[in-house]
Amino acid sequence: MSFNHKKKYGQNFLNDEFEVLNKIIEVSDIKSEDNILEIGPGQGALTSMLIDKVKKLTCIEIDSDLEKILQKKFSNKQNFELVMGDILEVDLKKYLTPHTKVVANIPYYITSPIINKIIEHRDLIDEAYIMVQKEVGERICAREGKERSILTLAVEYYGEAKYLFTIPREHFKPVPNVDSAFIKIRLYEDQKYQKKISEDLFFKYVKAAFSNKRKNIVNNFSTLGYSKDYIKEILKKIEISENERAENISIDNFIRLIELFEVSK
Ligand code: SAM
Repeated sequence: MSFNHKKKYGQNFLNDEFEVLNKIIEVSDIKSEDNILEIGPGQGALTSMLIDKVKKLTCIEIDSDLEKILQKKFSNKQNFELVMGDILEVDLKKYLTPHTKVVANIPYYITSPIINKIIEHRDLIDEAYIMVQKEVGERICAREGKERSILTLAVEYYGEAKYLFTIPREHFKPVPNVDSAFIKIRLYEDQKYQKKISEDLFFKYVKAAFSNKRKNIVNNFSTLGYSKDYIKEILKKIEISENERAENISIDNFIRLIELFEVSK
């Protein structure tokens, strides 16, 4: 069936090739008791791989032109639920049960808002297996170096990200200008880092640390009102060089630094 792909909805559909689809299913550790949320099912390439393997599959799709196509393919399946709407607007609490897993080739134009929404619903969502633009995947999963950004630390604060594999652009229709990455984000159930430092404090320091990527941590933390000498003293306590940049500071060291700054206030 021919379909007019809509650029505004980031519609680059996966070709119905088993090579990529099987790999997605394999690495997503799909189990028969899984409740899955698929964001943006499109014409159902991934949906058709998931539907017979899981307990419940909830799909949220914005494009009303796809409703008929999806209903025709899957409405005979008892475990299929299609919600027509904007993933950023839909009230997920109405549709999801605890321990839901996200498996999706998401629309890239709203990658960060979707990740934020998944994080906000971590009481319902345990883990997310999502396709993103390759460079974004590399940034989210970077352990050190210049690819690290506020997004990396935002994800690390709530969970653990892992780069699973790369999907070259040729596997999509229409062929996009970018390659893709399939990544996993497992959200912490035990609030590993939230227990130590509140969200407000964590993001206050992380945003300051990255406020000017070319500047070192001493200069960037000084925007919080601390003197440079005082910042150097704190850095010395956990053996971080005063010339270090935010991108080379691990989340554990960020937490230690914030504790030192806040305790000694
Ligand atoms: N999963 C399909 C596949 O792999 O072939 C389609 C993936 S395509 C990259 C992204 C899908 O998300 C499209 O079907 C698009 O219509 C849908 N979409 C775009 N914006 C959306 C939004 N705000 N809420 C829900 N779905 C959206």
